[in-house]
Amino acid sequence: MQWRVPLVDLAYGDEEKQAVLKVLDSHWLTMGGVTQQFEKEFARFVGAEHAVAVSNATVALHLACLAAGLGPGDEVIAPSLTFVATANAVLYTGAQVRFADIISETDLTLSPQAISALIGPRTKAIIVMHYAGFPCKMQAILEIASQHGLAVIEDAAHAAGAWLDGKHLGVWGDVGCFSFFSNKNLATGEGGMIVTNRSDLAEKARLLRSHAMTSVTWDRHQGRYYTYDVVELGYNYRIDEIRSALGLAQLEKLEVNNARRRAITRRYWDGLKNTGLVLPFHASDGAPGIIPSCHIFPCLLPAEIERTRFIDAMRSEGIQTSIHYPPVHQLTYYEKKYSPPRLPITETAASREVTLPLFPTMSDEQIEQVMSGVKASLATSLGGGKPA
Ligand SMILES: *Cc1c(COP(=O)(O)O)cnc(C)c1O
Repeated sequence: MQWRVPLVDLAYGDEEKQAVLKVLDSHWLTMGGVTQQFEKEFARFVGAEHAVAVSNATVALHLACLAAGLGPGDEVIAPSLTFVATANAVLYTGAQVRFADIISETDLTLSPQAISALIGPRTKAIIVMHYAGFPCKMQAILEIASQHGLAVIEDAAHAAGAWLDGKHLGVWGDVGCFSFFSNKNLATGEGGMIVTNRSDLAEKARLLRSHAMTSVTWDRHQGRYYTYDVVELGYNYRIDEIRSALGLAQLEKLEVNNARRRAITRRYWDGLKNTGLVLPFHASDGAPGIIPSCHIFPCLLPAEIERTRFIDAMRSEGIQTSIHYPPVHQLTYYEKKYSPPRLPITETAASREVTLPLFPTMSDEQIEQVMSGVKASLATSLGGGKPA
């Protein structure tokens, strides 16, 4: 389908091409000098002591859970309004997930009160997810965590280039996980990063990333070692030099691209505020200390609008939309696994949510097309009304 306005588009240029060609010419394809530089520059950018580059954010979350010591018998409190990988990473370790509700229809992040209500003798950790790159209530959540001796893992997949009170998201808790999947703010195709200020967690993640081998191929290439031992059950969660080179080129542009995302978000908020749509996070605009990454633009349809009709009407205008997210606790696998928890705010918000196109290279004309498309589609999508 040829969209007039696609949901996302890459902000790629000649820099990315040149970066890849340089790697090809170097004849070294997997974890080496470029990856080390990507880790160093990403750590400096977010202000973390350590950064460990991996294949994607799903395995970053898995390693974060393992490094935090999670295993069978443990429970982890997590949001349901997230991508399924947030919860899957917990289950990979043998630990169980307890889903907590979000704050409200206008703040789609995990509710500190809901977290507190779920803490029990088996609770070991909290995973937060900074929805759309807007910060969770980190002060309150860290306080709860320290009262109960819980680890805090941040799913920062949406949050590259997002700050709260001068501190980058992902470095508030014990360990943070970033995604560089194709549709994220910093895109390398596949890719992820673990950041932490704790050297014990960084060491563990580094070890498990590459089969828990005591030396990696790069070290042996450098002539430092000629053999290796394996000291734990590890994985191959490595990244390659091509993706790390793309990551360095994208990191260079991240702040400019995010500034454009914020400007587009403000245009949407301003142009759509009187349409009956609920606009999450709008109230945080201009709040001191909050610099969001504006990874996606969520809005909630009025109750009388039929969502599938609205999405179809947008499609007929050539505008692609998406849904973030079908709640994890309602996905078949999770619904069968756990007796369904009651998450009323997550359930209503998720059933009315639609994500509008947002990417840094969007033209002003495309922004206007989306907003007039929304208004026209709302008018034709009343439940039980005449067909669009
Ligand atoms: C994209 C995403 C992930 C998974 O990232 P991958 O790099 O694709 O594994 C996890 N959590 C959230 C919230 C995401 O948006």
